[in-house]
Amino acid sequence: MNYRHIYHAGNFADVIKHAALALSIAHLKAKPAAFRVIDTHAGTGRYNLSSPEALKTHEWDNGIGRLLAEPRPPDIDALLAPYLDAIAAANGGQLTITAPEIYPGSPLIARHLLRPHDRLVANELHLEDHTDLADLFAGDPQTKVMNLDGWTALKALLPPIERRGIILVDPPFEEPGELQRLVQGLREAARRFATGIVLLWYPIKDLRPVHAFRQELQESGLPKLLDVEVLVRYPDRIGLAGSGLVIMNPPFGLEPKLARLTTFLADRLQTGPGAGARVTWLAGERV
Ligand code: SAM
Repeated sequence: MNYRHIYHAGNFADVIKHAALALSIAHLKAKPAAFRVIDTHAGTGRYNLSSPEALKTHEWDNGIGRLLAEPRPPDIDALLAPYLDAIAAANGGQLTITAPEIYPGSPLIARHLLRPHDRLVANELHLEDHTDLADLFAGDPQTKVMNLDGWTALKALLPPIERRGIILVDPPFEEPGELQRLVQGLREAARRFATGIVLLWYPIKDLRPVHAFRQELQESGLPKLLDVEVLVRYPDRIGLAGSGLVIMNPPFGLEPKLARLTTFLADRLQTGPGAGARVTWLAGERV
């Protein structure tokens, strides 16, 4: 386990993933019934962008830095509001125009968006990161921090007692076969919690394995799968050129919002030719 998210916090992939997560949670809040967010690979939850690790890569420059550097159209700011509110809250309510000091990870963004009767389970296997995560949420009665293998957590924590919820599966992709594990994980999540909203994150460096992954999902028999792809440049197999999210059971009305938002983000965060966004149904379609 070498991956540490501090080197990547706030990069373009985080912006897309976290904006989509925040928007999905906002949709769940349209109904009063309680829900649970389960984050299977949660990281530390809070990243200091002035730390030596973040300064070493400066990845956030091309992510949250670029997003905040210029004004955005009002409809985009409306779509980004849950995400940007969470960033502002992590920075004491202040969001400087270009450089937040603290970048919140997925569990802190989710936690910011919960209502008093909603719950968060944040799981992280890396011992040091788990300790930071546990410290961050110490004494919070709405949050449970766990130290399980994320794939075990996915099975053990489903279904949540609320029977409403969002599961974020965001592994580090350190080992070969991680895309296939995502498919397997999604099948297991669907078996235990058929109505759950599951967000699976995946990297795009090379389009070939991504096409095979999508085909496997199309043939999986899972009923409602939306695929959200954002490329910041054409994938040439060197480095991260884009990222995707597969969303099982996306909330009604989320698809057109994500289409608009990701088209904007691909344009704003592009680093070379071939940038663009695509939102497509791999299975099912809500009309
Ligand atoms: N979800 C976080 C966010 O968006 O802020 C970032 C998570 S990062 C991409 C992946 C995390 O998974 C790392 O913190 C890593 O330590 C952790 N990890 C690696 N292997 C794991 C496993 N088998 N189970 C749970 N967590 C794991």
